[in-house]
Amino acid sequence: MRELKNEELKQMIKAKGFKLTKQRISVVLVLEQCEGEHLTAEEIYERVKQESPEIGLATVYRTIQLLLDLKIIDRLNLDDGCVRYELDNLDNTHHHHHLVCEQCGTIYEVKDDLLDTIEQQVQRDYKFEITNHILKFYGVCEQCNQK
Ligand SMILES: [Zn+2]
Ligand SMILES: [Zn+2]
Ligand SMILES: [Zn+2]
Repeated sequence: MRELKNEELKQMIKAKGFKLTKQRISVVLVLEQCEGEHLTAEEIYERVKQESPEIGLATVYRTIQLLLDLKIIDRLNLDDGCVRYELDNLDNTHHHHHLVCEQCGTIYEVKDDLLDTIEQQVQRDYKFEITNHILKFYGVCEQCNQK
């Protein structure tokens, strides 16, 4: 059985009482290796199968649901009609932002939160404690702009 590279992630899964079966680990491994790729359940299944050929799509769906419940992964809607997943919140930070290129469809990730000022203002003005946010920017990426 291959090991999870991300020790933090492993500890987090164990801390939540999640049994680390081989099949579950292979789902998490795929998500870890494909960071930034925003895979669909079918794409996760295709990749997990290479490592664990005996795994079924239903098991992959159940594992995804469990990881969602544990808040280890997030569900994404990137406007392409697919539900996509990615690892998130490993260090208890807010969700990163996505840049959606309207010409080529590429999704870029913004690693920094950048919303501190807005968050403080909202918390102050609305007495609302912000725990997370989902933010997508639409536009034209550098490569498409150069064409
Ligand atoms: Zn992302
Ligand atoms: Zn934030
Ligand atoms: Zn583009």
